[in-house]
Amino acid sequence: MTVLAGIAQNVMIVVLADFLDSVLAYFSAANSDGNIKSILVLICAYVGLQLFVWAEPNLFEWFRMKCQIQMRRYCNDVLLDKYSKIKYCYTEDDETQNLIERVMPQAEDKLTECFCCYLDIAGFIIKVAGILVILANATVWTALVVFLCAAPLFILAIKSGRATYETAKEVTQLQRQAEYYSDVAAGKEFAYERKLFKYGDFINAKWKERYDVARKTKLRTGIKWYVKSKMASVFTAIIGILSTIVLINPVLNGEMTVGLYISLVGAIYEFIKVMAWDFMEDIDWLTNTKEYMKDYNSFLDLEEDKEESGKDIFREEFKSLEFQNVSFHYPNSERYVLNGISFTIEANKRYCIVGTNGSGKTTIVKLILGLYDDYQGKILLNGRDVKEYRRAEIGKICSAVLQDFSRYSLSVRDNILLGGLKYNRKIDDAELSGIVSEVGLQSEVKKLKQGMDTVLGSHFKDGQDFSGGQWQRLTIARNLAGDSKIVFFDEPTAALDPIAERNFYQSLQFISNLKTTVVISHRLAVTRHSDMIYVVCDGAIGESGTFEELMERRGDFFEMYESQKVWYDEGTKRYSECY
Ligand code: ADP
Repeated sequence: MTVLAGIAQNVMIVVLADFLDSVLAYFSAANSDGNIKSILVLICAYVGLQLFVWAEPNLFEWFRMKCQIQMRRYCNDVLLDKYSKIKYCYTEDDETQNLIERVMPQAEDKLTECFCCYLDIAGFIIKVAGILVILANATVWTALVVFLCAAPLFILAIKSGRATYETAKEVTQLQRQAEYYSDVAAGKEFAYERKLFKYGDFINAKWKERYDVARKTKLRTGIKWYVKSKMASVFTAIIGILSTIVLINPVLNGEMTVGLYISLVGAIYEFIKVMAWDFMEDIDWLTNTKEYMKDYNSFLDLEEDKEESGKDIFREEFKSLEFQNVSFHYPNSERYVLNGISFTIEANKRYCIVGTNGSGKTTIVKLILGLYDDYQGKILLNGRDVKEYRRAEIGKICSAVLQDFSRYSLSVRDNILLGGLKYNRKIDDAELSGIVSEVGLQSEVKKLKQGMDTVLGSHFKDGQDFSGGQWQRLTIARNLAGDSKIVFFDEPTAALDPIAERNFYQSLQFISNLKTTVVISHRLAVTRHSDMIYVVCDGAIGESGTFEELMERRGDFFEMYESQKVWYDEGTKRYSECY
């Protein structure tokens, strides 16, 4: 359709020229017997072509909308699928986050726009080529001048397109920061502290600062683009006017008919108009979207978790997990967080990994869960390197109750069932209520309006919220819905009140009877009843042993214990009450 519309516009120039010449011939005294029939045919042809040229953009718009809807489905499938598969380390990398932020939002619009730009430009090239051929047919040099005028505009438009995208890149970073401040200033998550500390103006000022820089950067490039393109359009207009004056000469010499002259002049002015506005914008957009496509491809090239290769282990009986001299630093830092750490976790025992904040405890869990795999040393599962197993299999054996666990605005039932999905477990109502009572949520769930089917959180109408401790118990329930063999608890009591802490210890005791448990904490109350305590110090195991052994040794653990004695005594009391 685009090609036909381009051709139609050129045919219109010729038809109009013929029509004008025929009319002039008809009315001139020398040709008074001119053919009225051919004039009518030309009028019909012109009207037909005009109708097609008029209908084409409307049809094109309909097609563009259809294309956009299809693209939305495609982008959701492809981009979300990719996003779910990329390596975890990317989610903690600022540059990749910026890339994702540039690629994911409104991808369907950008891809459709890119395709439509190609079509627009193809149509434009056909139109220009047609005008040049008609011009060259009459006078070659005018065609040459018009052609040479277009070349610098092309280059200018491409350059400004790149500049626009570079600005967009710079602005994305600023916009992400501004969005964060906007979340703090208006988001629900921060509402409580916002009221408490009354920091609204302070954060607003920070938001405004980022927003202003982003706005000014955008405006600067916009103005530059506008000035450049307008200067270019003035230049083209002058050339256009000159060529229409110069074309009078061939008309006077009889090299060009009057009809062709009038028709061509009209076409040249139309060409200037298109060149100055639409074409510059199209090329600018095209370069812009070409840069977008580069980002799009970089996103699709991001490394994915390797799921398929490797052995299965889930059906095997879990025997041991061992760190052998493991060292690791995060990709964005040279500093080693783990320095040759070695320890063993055996089946059906209770472990504690303790250490001060920042000593590398959470990093150990991240390595076990396979979130990072570029470490030195070995992690062995049942005596075999974990890298030999399929990642999904490791994910089935190990589960974790993380410090910053997720709160899903789903029903209580779905919140728990999520934990059984990867095991394809069918959990009936009896088992579900068993799990709920094991984590001590039975009475809370009973109080909810729709019981297990109550949607939690405030994202939905009638949603009801849980307290921090209740959410944590729900996370534990989610873990119980799965068939994992080891559960890691990362700082489980850090944010709990005494009653919630007591409830947690009860759940822990229950889970310890079913699975191997590893509690990671800087609080020592939980260590007393574990079979083995590992004390992490500067990314390595400083001490290990049972509670009594470590206390007797009077080393780091003893010192930490003494310094925490006041709240530790309270905690131990609560913990002992459960045993
Ligand atoms: P712990 O759980 O013992 O408090 P972590 O394992 O969370 O400590 O962190 C150990 C160290 O690694 C800290 O100094 C922390 O700043 C650093 N760290 C944690 N996550 C990242 C990350 N994604 N990128 C860079 N450094 C990190």
